[in-house]
Amino acid sequence: MSVPDRGAGHDAALRDVTASRPVNPEGALVLFSGGQDSTACLAWALERFDTVETIGFDYGQRHRIELSQRPVIRDGLGRLKKSWQDRLGPDHVLALPSLAAISETSLTRDMAMEATASGFPNTFVPGRNILFLTYAAALGWRRGLQVLVGGMCETDFSGYPDCRNDTIQVLARALSLGLDRPVAIETPLMWLTKAETWALAETLGGQPLVDLIVAETVTCYQGDRTKAHAWGTGCGQCPACELRRKGWEEWHSAKI
Ligand code: ZN
Repeated sequence: MSVPDRGAGHDAALRDVTASRPVNPEGALVLFSGGQDSTACLAWALERFDTVETIGFDYGQRHRIELSQRPVIRDGLGRLKKSWQDRLGPDHVLALPSLAAISETSLTRDMAMEATASGFPNTFVPGRNILFLTYAAALGWRRGLQVLVGGMCETDFSGYPDCRNDTIQVLARALSLGLDRPVAIETPLMWLTKAETWALAETLGGQPLVDLIVAETVTCYQGDRTKAHAWGTGCGQCPACELRRKGWEEWHSAKI
């Protein structure tokens, strides 16, 4: 297998990732995908921690737009508050191409049909958040960051058992043992409805943060950025768009 030349930028990023840092109890590493939930989590962390770094995963997702929106959203957050700009540290993107090999598109026909019936996107990988958090913990160990922040949510439970609070907290224990260093996993959205996630964004960053989330975050399973709605861009049809629209409408009707 040939190793692609990723250039000087990639090499510098790799050095950045592998450089060991002393533990910083005031720092956090946010799992940041470029979606609505992880953007709310990033704003939440920027309010609470002195140093906030972000991690994203390139796993061959069909909609590359999600990855390309990440720096746009980070820049946008930095412009909203001076304190957020000061606290926002490096971004890390890890390539996990092996995940594509175990996504629905690579499975046998019978299993693919079963997964499609579940309504999950075709890049769905069972236990994906466990893998992401484990990679984040390993990177956090290198960076001296022992608090991980993720947007997992049990309230609008969509059938992802790796989003359950029990899964997350037992994983934090396993990671703490395995790394021989305390690892905390903060999930600020765990018990919030989608309407309450919009309200959280408004509390953290006011209307400018709500506007940034509407304009720049990608939730749609199709990665559709061509159709604009009050709640953001998306195909408007897929389960992720449906959930986002419903949350927006519930939030608005609660405000009236
Ligand atoms: Zn959609």
